[in-house]
Amino acid sequence: MTTFKYTTYQRRAWRKKKKLASFLRKVGKSTTKGILKQVAEADKAAWKEVSCLDCANCCKKMTPTYTRKDINRIAKHLKMTYKQYFDKYLHIDDNKDIVNTSTPCQFLGKDHKCTIYAIRPDDCSGFPHFVRNDFRYQAREKTYVNNLALCPATLVFVEKLKEIVERDN
Ligand code: SF4
Ligand code: SF4
Repeated sequence: MTTFKYTTYQRRAWRKKKKLASFLRKVGKSTTKGILKQVAEADKAAWKEVSCLDCANCCKKMTPTYTRKDINRIAKHLKMTYKQYFDKYLHIDDNKDIVNTSTPCQFLGKDHKCTIYAIRPDDCSGFPHFVRNDFRYQAREKTYVNNLALCPATLVFVEKLKEIVERDN
């Protein structure tokens, strides 16, 4: 079993970024059928190779975008009001999104575990957003290309998807 090393994935992402970005651009524009099936296959293959508990880079370096519902749920769990929680941990960024004020995330616990896992923000449960009906839109919006060097699972997922699409062509 190989030891997980985030920097190895990061270097690989930088090396392959141009080719993978061009692939994602094509996928985003294409209208061929079957992409969601290929996405599901790539998703399965990627999670066989990468474990989030070895990594936690998203919790260390990125921030989720919060909905009001997320804030209400988490504040209630912490016995805080919406305002108390917001003032302590959050701010509104340049895109008008509600995000954490600092990194790593305040809820990242020991062994890379999320201490509010069951009630974490919806953005965290969905991340890195592979299997979704608007996959092509996300590809066009650069969701995956922007995460290539930040999220090892995204890198492996896009590599696998490229292999699968080329195999099926
Ligand atoms: S989602 Fe990506 S960045 Fe986050 S822990 Fe998993 S592999 Fe790492
Ligand atoms: S809430 Fe949990 S899953 Fe989301 S960023 Fe924080 S530690 Fe990670």
